Amino acid sequence: MAIAYPYDGVLYLAATKRCTLACTFCPKQHGRWIVAGNDLRNDAEPSADELFAAAEALHPERFREVAFVGLGEPTMRLPVVVEVGRRLRAHGHRVRLVTDGLASLRAGHDVAPELAGSVDEVIVSLNAADPATYVKLCPNRYGEAAHAAACDFIRAARKHVERVEASVVAVPGLDLAACRRLAHELGVPLRERPWFDPLVGEPHEARA
Ligand code: SF4
Repeated sequence: MAIAYPYDGVLYLAATKRCTLACTFCPKQHGRWIVAGNDLRNDAEPSADELFAAAEALHPERFREVAFVGLGEPTMRLPVVVEVGRRLRAHGHRVRLVTDGLASLRAGHDVAPELAGSVDEVIVSLNAADPATYVKLCPNRYGEAAHAAACDFIRAARKHVERVEASVVAVPGLDLAACRRLAHELGVPLRERPWFDPLVGEPHEARA
């Protein structure tokens, strides 16, 4: 089980295996948890000290950035992300957060201010251009409301984090032009991730 692992010049941290979304394009929804040779199916969730120590053990200065990703939604453990991010940045490391953008929806209030000073960049999974497509691709307990919440989170994060992007996985049939228009309206660039068949593709590329 790994909570910190290198991949393609980035040091990745996995704070949890839990998610709010059950994305149809995600390999873990199909029982595939191995990323770059690391099994990320961690039942025990690391403390901030444990996660920071795991990052330090891999010498973050050797990487261009440290990224909170998964397989799991990092902001399910927002206090850990905030603390570890602050400590890494205090040591001069660049920190990126990849998130579903649903932290404020889960918390019931705007948590974006908590990211100030703890991350340099946030990439929010927009997933689709409209709520109906979103919930079809990413079933979740909030239903279509999750799409608007992710959009709101992008707007809120822009007030507190230097760089914010939206992302989609280019699932066959997804209206990428509409996704680009929505990202433009939200004032952020759109990162278009390649789609791989989740049963045979590369798990790392398909993550949110
Ligand atoms: S793509 Fe990301 S948010 Fe979606 S189920 Fe997989 S790890 Fe969770």
